[in-house]
Amino acid sequence: MGAGVQSSALLALSAAGALPKVDYAIFADTGWEPAAVYSHLNRLEREIAEPAGITMLRVTSGNIRDDALDPEHRFASMPLYILNQDGKQGMTRRQCTGEYKIKPIKKKVRELLGYPYPKRIPKSVFVEQWVGISTDEFHRAKDADVKYMRNRHPLTDLNWSRADCIRYLASIGLAETPKSSCSGCPFHGNQQWRNIRDTSPQEWADMVAFDAAIRQGNARANAAGNRLLGQAFLYRSRVPLSQAPIDHVTAAEWAARRQEIDDPAAAVEELENGVADGCSPWACRGEVEPVQDDFGLAS
Ligand code: SF4
Repeated sequence: MGAGVQSSALLALSAAGALPKVDYAIFADTGWEPAAVYSHLNRLEREIAEPAGITMLRVTSGNIRDDALDPEHRFASMPLYILNQDGKQGMTRRQCTGEYKIKPIKKKVRELLGYPYPKRIPKSVFVEQWVGISTDEFHRAKDADVKYMRNRHPLTDLNWSRADCIRYLASIGLAETPKSSCSGCPFHGNQQWRNIRDTSPQEWADMVAFDAAIRQGNARANAAGNRLLGQAFLYRSRVPLSQAPIDHVTAAEWAARRQEIDDPAAAVEELENGVADGCSPWACRGEVEPVQDDFGLAS
């Protein structure tokens, strides 16, 4: 349960009896979701899950924002944009989804099955895990990487697109379902940055402050003397968030993205809207070239 469009629709379909009733909906809390996501999640729990007898479980591995700024804490890095001293661009390896979303969900599933880590789980024991992937993003549907979870994708089985999910959510009073992802996720598009800046000045100030705080890498790497040789940014054009051109796509951004993907429509879509439905634990944005490891030195 990422609390975005697809997983919200999946929960509602299950609660309404259009799909079999799930036992649990599990939300992995990175501690740094936009306020709109937490309030939507509370509504889902109160108005959809609870009346249907579905238990909403919230699990966490900690607060991704605080951990990045804590010199005492091992930090699973976010996919930050790097500008190296020689002017070359790179990204830090994305470890956050595994640490803050997948890990606590697996831990909870093992508990629910009665085999908490490190107990061995018999081959015949597994959960069926429903993942909200719609037909327009079916390429993101994957098998689970452990035997005790078997993934199903009921929305694609129903032939539902993201637009179908939005229509359905609107019909049950959930038209305002927000995109779910960390407040300061570097995968945001301009539209998401603008939305935060224009609707929640406090959250925007928090993100601008975080962006400035990670310029030389995370706090632990700095404390250990492994300072980043380049600079890290939340915004893809590698400028401070406070100065980022989020009201329009610049010619330079457009040209850079077109060099990477040969599809003008997809380039516009991504620059403006970022990842289609934020960061879901089982369908987070794909492969990012690991040119740097946990804020270590550029390779
Ligand atoms: S939303 Fe972004 S920052 Fe948060 S876990 Fe996913 S990739 Fe990492």
